[in-house]
Amino acid sequence: MQPTPSPLPVNLYDLSRAALGELLAGWGYSAYHRDLLWEALYRQQVESFDALTGLRPDLVGALRERTRLERPVTHHEVFSTDGYTRKLLLRLRDGQTVETVLMRFKGRATVCLSTQAGCAMGCVFCATGQMGFVRHLTPGEIIGQVLHVTRILRETNESLRNVVLMGMGEPLHNYDATLAAVDTMVDPKGLALAPRFITLSTVGVVPGIRRLADEDRPVQLAVSLHGATEAERGALVPAARKWPLAELMDACRYYVEKRKRRIFFEWALIAGQNDTPEQAHTLGRLLEGMDAHVNVIPLNPTVGYAQSPSGPEAVRAFQDILASYEVPSTVRQRRGIDIDAGCGQLKAAVERQRPPTAP
Ligand code: SAH
Ligand code: SF4
Repeated sequence: MQPTPSPLPVNLYDLSRAALGELLAGWGYSAYHRDLLWEALYRQQVESFDALTGLRPDLVGALRERTRLERPVTHHEVFSTDGYTRKLLLRLRDGQTVETVLMRFKGRATVCLSTQAGCAMGCVFCATGQMGFVRHLTPGEIIGQVLHVTRILRETNESLRNVVLMGMGEPLHNYDATLAAVDTMVDPKGLALAPRFITLSTVGVVPGIRRLADEDRPVQLAVSLHGATEAERGALVPAARKWPLAELMDACRYYVEKRKRRIFFEWALIAGQNDTPEQAHTLGRLLEGMDAHVNVIPLNPTVGYAQSPSGPEAVRAFQDILASYEVPSTVRQRRGIDIDAGCGQLKAAVERQRPPTAP
């Protein structure tokens, strides 16, 4: 008989400050020691037990024996020619890889984080959707991506300002781990990132949006719409069949009213598909009177989807129509397009380059 493998020791990055406190309290250490450890992890950002020099040696010994300090490691890395974007493919404990993108623009560093390996939502234009779902990330695997880029930024005395949960995966399909990671990001004794600079983007998971509204979590909300009628949205976003547009918009209105906070709507502009004046009018009518802002993103071409981005004139016309409904919009810059910086695209490109496996 195979022996049962012993469970892995807990990864400290998976724990909230409260959970870390409970762990240490169980070993007889007070909240003072918990806070010293928390600050070492997220302020000094130590990377090994040996570096925990400010803690009692017996506590370090117990941690070494019963916990692990595990972060993702670089598997592959590319830099964009515009010099602003660095795209990382990070490897997790089980060999899965996820994308993390660091953008430095006008002194404001932004990181784009993954919340899942793959994605179950299947959006037709998205490289991650084309891969399918592999697994959820743990809170520590999400925080590990943040620490990976803060380490890079420290080399040049820069700090991280913006976090966007717009990498691989659907954050509200992995609600608990994602929001646990967000809580660690904003913890004032640790990374202390500002909630107004953390944006969670969802494909439109209705129960998750309602839960976010009820729990008042410290994030800005972005909803990927891409179509303003059931049929048009359903053709691009299969998840729309589960959460129809009317229910999604009800949840969005509930969020705006309850939180008194604006929602961002994302719209990947695909030439001849969802960039027509008719679509723009339908979207304008849908959002008219709501505290909403539309981010239009000309499509990033992917291997699995043979459509093109809208040209500048179509983009401008689309925005003008939205403006006639007093719906503000911004064109999101496609930084790093030369390095497959769209969601899931680097992983797809690296996998295409891998030599075929022997039979
Ligand atoms: N799953 C979440 C967050 C990750 S995707 C969501 O769908 O919102 C982040 C954003 O990138 C979404 O708005 C998504 O629609 C968009 N996106 C994905 N692939 C794209 C592509 N090829 N071109 C343009 N935008 C894309
Ligand atoms: Fe998943 Fe978002 Fe890609 Fe859709 S766009 S497949 S929800 S990651």
